[in-house]
Amino acid sequence: MTDQNNTNDNELRFYCDEHIWFDDGNIVLLAGPSAPVPGREPVEGGDIYGFRCHKSVLGKHSPVFKDMFATSSNKGDIMIEGVPAVALADDWEDIRDLLRTFYAAFDIPTQLRDPKNLVRVAGILRLSKKYMIDEFWDKAVKVVQRDYPSTAEEWLVAEAASREIEKRALQSFQLKGDMHQSFYVSEHWPDPVATIKLASELDILPILPAAFYDLNRIYFAQRGGELYDYGYQERHVNTHDLDIVDLRRLTEGREELRIYIRSSVLHAVKDDWITITPASRREMSRLCKCVVPAEERLHKKPRFVPDLRVNWPCLPHIRIWLREAHVSLSTDRPLDPVAIVVDPIKYLTDAQAALSLDATDTQYPAANEMCAVCRMWLKSQLREKIDKIWTALPLFFSLAAEVSSAGAS
Ligand SMILES: [Zn+2]
Repeated sequence: MTDQNNTNDNELRFYCDEHIWFDDGNIVLLAGPSAPVPGREPVEGGDIYGFRCHKSVLGKHSPVFKDMFATSSNKGDIMIEGVPAVALADDWEDIRDLLRTFYAAFDIPTQLRDPKNLVRVAGILRLSKKYMIDEFWDKAVKVVQRDYPSTAEEWLVAEAASREIEKRALQSFQLKGDMHQSFYVSEHWPDPVATIKLASELDILPILPAAFYDLNRIYFAQRGGELYDYGYQERHVNTHDLDIVDLRRLTEGREELRIYIRSSVLHAVKDDWITITPASRREMSRLCKCVVPAEERLHKKPRFVPDLRVNWPCLPHIRIWLREAHVSLSTDRPLDPVAIVVDPIKYLTDAQAALSLDATDTQYPAANEMCAVCRMWLKSQLREKIDKIWTALPLFFSLAAEVSSAGAS
């Protein structure tokens, strides 16, 4: 921005945008607190930002701009350097981002879960909705939908990206080795509160369940800071920015999720973490490739000869594994006994990953005793749990109506 007038504090300050000011431009867009918007109270002594651009370029992208110029007479309006000017009520920074996007290719953020993604596309989203610039809307909305997707599959991909971003940032932080600095996890994750606010403002409703799930697992600032010998500051958010409806969704949804997890996932310690139905018992008895060693048959249960058609040799190992994995995963963060209820999807993903480890790994020895078919079966059961939780999120966070109306439109 270049200062047009060297004025004192009581006068308007007018700035021409340094990029969007074309000598052959035939329209000047004005924005800023003092822009003379019809119907708005004039603000004195503030800033106005001017963008000299082309009606044809604006009209090409936006039917709203096209109509605006078609109906305006260009007479009696404000003129700047002999060019008609139109004052807009929008935020000048949003206008700037939009115009830069019109004149240069829209630089879509490509890094999944980059914490800056939302800030980069927020202005474009706001104005492309208002001025009906479908092409930009479609591109920008994909960025936020990718970070807060509506399927469990995409959520797992996004989560992996965030953990990788955090891991790399932490490594470079540790390399610097400055003991007086803290590592703020929040700086490396998206902000779910800002996401929820933007989604509500612009009706990007399908991203809400994922954003609320993300928000639900964040507690207070400083929590966990003492767990590490350097200042590792866990994620935190400013829930003051949420309106009363969203705050209620958060608190009630968090309770609903906890109740659900307590009644299903937490039963791991009682062996019925995975429901073994008579049907799956029959099916797995047929598919299980495990053979009870003859030795075991002879020594431990000499009178019992297992009938492999109705028995499921891997089942005891599956049960042991579930207990082992549960204990190990829940003590992953020793001072945090609620790790499972805080982020059950991560918990189940970690459990799945543990099951994929090859036979040389002894972290969960029972997995090594299972046959490949039973491992696959157990993995698919864990995945089903993830899908169940995911599908129920709109219900937990009172978003069912929002999500279905978005799906219908
Ligand atoms: Zn088996």
